[in-house]
Amino acid sequence: MFFSVEGLHGGIWGIRDQSLLETDDSYDYTSNGEYQGEQLTEGIAKRVSVNVFERNRQLRTQCINLYGTDCIVCAFNFAHHYGIRGEGFIEVYHIVPLSEIRKSYLANPSDLRPVCSNCHSMIHRFKPFLTISEITDLVEMQRANTL
Ligand SMILES: [Zn+2]
Repeated sequence: MFFSVEGLHGGIWGIRDQSLLETDDSYDYTSNGEYQGEQLTEGIAKRVSVNVFERNRQLRTQCINLYGTDCIVCAFNFAHHYGIRGEGFIEVYHIVPLSEIRKSYLANPSDLRPVCSNCHSMIHRFKPFLTISEITDLVEMQRANTL
């Protein structure tokens, strides 16, 4: 690669060693192979404060008895995918978020829906959260586009 030796419009051009322009991180290692680049850390403990809303385990069981353990959105079944390890596993999504109710209320298993972890995460990824109908439409639209 060329560069201007005496600055822009200087008229003398040099050739830069292309190997010095490589963007890999090989220059972050010493000749002994020790990493000396930017230190990226993870796993530092920090104290956080969150609101936790009580889930009634019996209600969860009733929801599963009512709707089964297939994801209501994408039909994913943990037992089919992971065998015995996934048997009976499914997350439960509350149609009315408990964080919006702000008080104890008389819940009904029909207020809940079984959803897989991926669909549950996508529902909550951005606010406003998606409804079951919206996430189902999104998944079906994506499936139709990939066929
Ligand atoms: Zn799903």
